Amino acid sequence: MKVIQLTPQDNVAVLVEAGHRGDAVDGHPGLVLQEDIPQSHKVTLADVAQGEPIRRYGVVLGYALRDYPKGSWINETSLRLPKSPALDALRANPDFKSPTDIREPKQDFFMGYANDPAFSPFAGTRNILAIHTTVQCVIGIVNAAIAKIKQDLLPQFPHVDDVIAINHQYGCGVAINAENAEIPIHALQNLVHHPNFGGEIMCVSLGCEKLQPTMLLQEHCTADNLVILQAQHGFKGMIDAIVKMAAVKLAKLDQRRRTPQPLSKLLIGLQCGGSDAFSGVSGNPSVGYAADMLVRAGATVMFSEVSEVRDGVPFIANRITSPATCETFKQQVSWYDDYLAKGKVDRSANPSPGNKKGGLSTIVEKSMGSIAKSGSQEIQEVLVPGGIPTKRGMIFAATPASDLVCGTMQMCSGATLQVFVTGRGTPYGLAALPVLKVCTRNELKAKWPDVIDINTGSVLTAGTSIQDMGESICDTILSVASGTTKPFTEQYGIYNDICLFNPTPNT
Ligand code: CA
Repeated sequence: MKVIQLTPQDNVAVLVEAGHRGDAVDGHPGLVLQEDIPQSHKVTLADVAQGEPIRRYGVVLGYALRDYPKGSWINETSLRLPKSPALDALRANPDFKSPTDIREPKQDFFMGYANDPAFSPFAGTRNILAIHTTVQCVIGIVNAAIAKIKQDLLPQFPHVDDVIAINHQYGCGVAINAENAEIPIHALQNLVHHPNFGGEIMCVSLGCEKLQPTMLLQEHCTADNLVILQAQHGFKGMIDAIVKMAAVKLAKLDQRRRTPQPLSKLLIGLQCGGSDAFSGVSGNPSVGYAADMLVRAGATVMFSEVSEVRDGVPFIANRITSPATCETFKQQVSWYDDYLAKGKVDRSANPSPGNKKGGLSTIVEKSMGSIAKSGSQEIQEVLVPGGIPTKRGMIFAATPASDLVCGTMQMCSGATLQVFVTGRGTPYGLAALPVLKVCTRNELKAKWPDVIDINTGSVLTAGTSIQDMGESICDTILSVASGTTKPFTEQYGIYNDICLFNPTPNT
């Protein structure tokens, strides 16, 4: 029976395969399982008395609720949560130095679509016509128009990858200047400038909504870019107006070609979902190493998920050298604390039932795994939700951890590719950018061979190093960014709806 102990201070280890009562444990003479323990769950390596800490990653996951003799199963029912690290105590670390012993990517460029710097500081990984919308009322018409565009027009423009609708739930019935309303509005404004949309701007408005086209499109709000449905004659008039404008935009986008782009033009996002206790052992550390390689070579990589990294904030602050950036980080995280307090709940609402099934017992354990995907380099900037990076390198883009919301908000920040790590499995994808699925264990790849792109399970079972797995992920990222490889989400068109982070009620 193989187990993984992460640090010498840990008094639990994780089972690589499901174990049975009486099984002996490799490398731990005298240790036998006291009960059946599922795959990826924890076993105590020593006797733990009630109230004593359970340590993994060298940190306290929680305190034992009763005595656990050596060989016992530790799960979400076994532990009392420790206190959250205090935000007030967080300080920047001006002495932090990024590790330099990181491998170099095989190439210092990717084949991408150049953008006018006034449109976006980053290059595209895909060439897409996006039809923006100001309000949900127009979605039915936009979807019908896009079906017609895909059937009649798109085949005439072979250099355009897709036509997509930016359908969202925002736009009307809102107190447009209410507190926090700027979050979804700025996100939608930034999304207009997404690097994969190539500077060809097109928007469908109803006419009477609160989020007027002038607010969404700003200087781009011209008759060439805007269809107002209330100004059209009937259904046919609406569809014809959208199709006619799309034809003009598609003809321009069709002239674009991939050219070598320095990695400083590459912006990618990282997130995880459906995590398990292997996420912090195989999947996320491997992705973290790939992120280190890309960052050292000049790329910009975002990680997020405030509500998930909350218990590991000292590890993030330790990699921030600027006091002002650390202050922004504290502000973004304090929002989550306030939200929990307002809702009269605590952070034990996370992990999810699936996480627990996958062996994640507390939010502390989930946090440590989640942060592992951010690698080891200095954190250069902290972004408000949906903000566009102004620095290069590793960036904390504050978003909630929900896969749909995090994915959407990283997209609004301009991510042109997302790497998504999962242990339990999710088919999630986005239409505006390729989403590369990385799984933590062999069983998930075997079950979903045509959903999971990269399997890091050999880190657990065959001794593959994090560096080797990370380098392989880095190669795949550059191949996907260059359009040479299409992840399964893109091959099958597995695209989720846009879910903006909107802390305000729709009134
Ligand atoms: Ca997530």
